[in-house]
Amino acid sequence: MDCIALEKSVAAANYDSLPVVLREAKGVWAKDTEGRRYLDMMSAYSAVSLGHGHPRILKAMMEQAARLAVTSRAYHTELLGPFLDRLVHLTGLDMALPMNTGAEAVETAIKAARRWGYRFKKIPKDQAEIIVAENNFHGRTTTIVGFSSDEAYREGFGPFSGGFKRVPFGDAQAASDAVTENTCAILIEPIQGEAGIVVPPEGYLRELRSLCDRHNVLLILDEVQSGLGRTGRWFAHQHEGIKPDGLILGKALGGGVYPVSAVVGTREVMSVFDPGSHGSTFGGNALAARIGLEALAVIEEEHLVERSAEMGSYLLGRLRGMRSNIVKEVRGRGLWVGVEVDPGVVSARAVCDALLADGILTKDTHGTVLRFAPPLTITREEIDWGMERVERVFAHAVH
Ligand code: PMP
Repeated sequence: MDCIALEKSVAAANYDSLPVVLREAKGVWAKDTEGRRYLDMMSAYSAVSLGHGHPRILKAMMEQAARLAVTSRAYHTELLGPFLDRLVHLTGLDMALPMNTGAEAVETAIKAARRWGYRFKKIPKDQAEIIVAENNFHGRTTTIVGFSSDEAYREGFGPFSGGFKRVPFGDAQAASDAVTENTCAILIEPIQGEAGIVVPPEGYLRELRSLCDRHNVLLILDEVQSGLGRTGRWFAHQHEGIKPDGLILGKALGGGVYPVSAVVGTREVMSVFDPGSHGSTFGGNALAARIGLEALAVIEEEHLVERSAEMGSYLLGRLRGMRSNIVKEVRGRGLWVGVEVDPGVVSARAVCDALLADGILTKDTHGTVLRFAPPLTITREEIDWGMERVERVFAHAVH
């Protein structure tokens, strides 16, 4: 039986993977089992922002795995302090709580916001409300899918947790109208990734920041995908010069090899946690901390944030310059570009399949958007190589 057939026979069908079997990858290039080469324009949803198999990450990982990996937080290690210290300095916040996956970090932020609301805002017991956006994506736990607006994420998984109010993304007035005395937080992605790389109007985050300040509400930003250089700044909120009260990070924090996530927040917000209130067996283990520390060092020392800004505007320009009757809109920031295709002409998935056949790994989102989010290490020549193929596929995709 071939790999795809075997996988389909034993793996629950919660993904509709593209028909390629990858065997190895280095930097921006991946190879399949037949030896065919692909340019990775997907980066595992930003988890591989540093490129596949970054030598510094591999070295740190091997060394650390051999020395000390998982102890649980029943004990201290030499690495958690330095890792979180670097994280708080980078974000300009005060304290952090390490977890593994993005969804767990979002859950952590929800707990922090609610407890903060009861302790500091004196919200009556179990009445705390969190405002979220339409078309949000924050992960797949039952609490998180409970406030999703996508029926595919929710269907059959209820009953769901209450305490969330959804408002249109990009509309600060709608958020303002939803605030009550029981609102403890606004939780949003500064740019919506899974919704199709949706960039809100200029000034949106600043308006939310001042709304939160006026009403004593926390602004919590989910930068699991947008953070760590993806948008051409360390964090997407820096484009608007604001600071959140809580920041959720993941994906690239694990250097492309290991799940590492964290919530970083102000001292007041993070002070709500005391022993026994939260935890994770693997969260903040020595291997995770070492990899996280090394990932942050690589992003800084290889100037990946600046590269993302520079190569991102080049990529955006190349895609915007393509003449094609399938393209409705090209949008994005940094090395994070969404191409909205006209569903009346072609499906985004069909374009992905055609790109795959031509050596480009990407993935559609919501049926109409193609995502171009290569590792931040990509060169101009590699972008050119990819764009030649994209141009060809766009020109022929109508048939
Ligand atoms: N938040 C955002 C903004 C995300 O894009 C994702 C994953 N796509 C998550 C949270 C969930 O992360 P994970 O899959 O690691 O749980």
